[in-house]
Amino acid sequence: MTDTPHFKRVALIGIGLINSSIARVMRRDGLADSIVACARQKETRDTALSLGIVDAVTDDPAEAVTGADLIVLGVPVGACGAVAEAMAPGLEKGAIVTDVGSVKRAVVNDVLPHLKEGVHFVPGHPIAGTEHSGPAAGFAELFRGRWCILTPLAATPPEATEKVMAFWRKAGSMVEVMDVEHHDRVLAITSHLPHLIAYTIVGTVDDLSTATKSEVIRYSASGFRDFTRIAASDPVMWRDVFLNNREAVLEMLGRFSEDLTALQRAIRWGEGDKLEALFNRTRAIRRSIIEAKQA
Ligand code: NAP
Repeated sequence: MTDTPHFKRVALIGIGLINSSIARVMRRDGLADSIVACARQKETRDTALSLGIVDAVTDDPAEAVTGADLIVLGVPVGACGAVAEAMAPGLEKGAIVTDVGSVKRAVVNDVLPHLKEGVHFVPGHPIAGTEHSGPAAGFAELFRGRWCILTPLAATPPEATEKVMAFWRKAGSMVEVMDVEHHDRVLAITSHLPHLIAYTIVGTVDDLSTATKSEVIRYSASGFRDFTRIAASDPVMWRDVFLNNREAVLEMLGRFSEDLTALQRAIRWGEGDKLEALFNRTRAIRRSIIEAKQA
């Protein structure tokens, strides 16, 4: 197994929170001879360059991937297909393409048709992030102590998966390999549904009268504040997550709605024992997250 992977040229397609954090890890640990970033907006490219985390920038995906032995797609999930199509002419045999998208089935379906034979695809998803976006928001320690899930395909050579795995280990992550569909179901409940709930609660508050809203903001430390952090996450990224993991999210949402209705009923009928039993169960889950050092 490769302990310290080395790449000749790394092409980061999109240079936001996640890919700029990857660039910082690569720089810190000297994992690449050169790093090139690709972004549509001049401002994004200028910021990436001025931060000193990449050697070159371009707005042309095909130019970015030319000569690259590692390509990391770090754009919103819904943009991965178009970006893969645009970079395809520059891809070289033996290159490894990976991504960091929060949904895996849709990304695989959209990207795979554009990869020529001999280009190896290792879909991935670091379970790490913040509510901030853009190249200035990244930091090398983002992935330390966090999980990274890889969902290699039947045709992915094990050496390609191992090289990507070795990168994530250098970044401080624990790596898990799982099936594409399983990833999407697990993330629907652990990440996508909580975001949907946060967006809903904060949206509900926004619809209240101005007087009530100002009180909510004043007393937000009583619980609301924690939801606002999640609900401040990037709107485009999250739009794409819900549209691209539709089935798994709708399934989990259905279960959640049933449980919410049961809770509503327990409150209406004064069934304190039911409420207390649930709250004891949920408290135990929090304890296990702390014990797993994921708090
Ligand atoms: P980000 O900070 O918003 O950066 C997105 C990057 O993609 C920017 O460089 C942006 O630059 C470019 N971009 C945006 N729309 C594009 C489009 N339609 N076509 C081509 N390029 C586009 O995003 P991020 O938080 O790093 O997220 C990137 C990926 O990581 C997403 O797929 C997300 O699901 C996944 N992810 C995010 C988190 C998180 O907490 N943020 C955690 C794990 C995984 P220009 O606008 O200049 O092109």
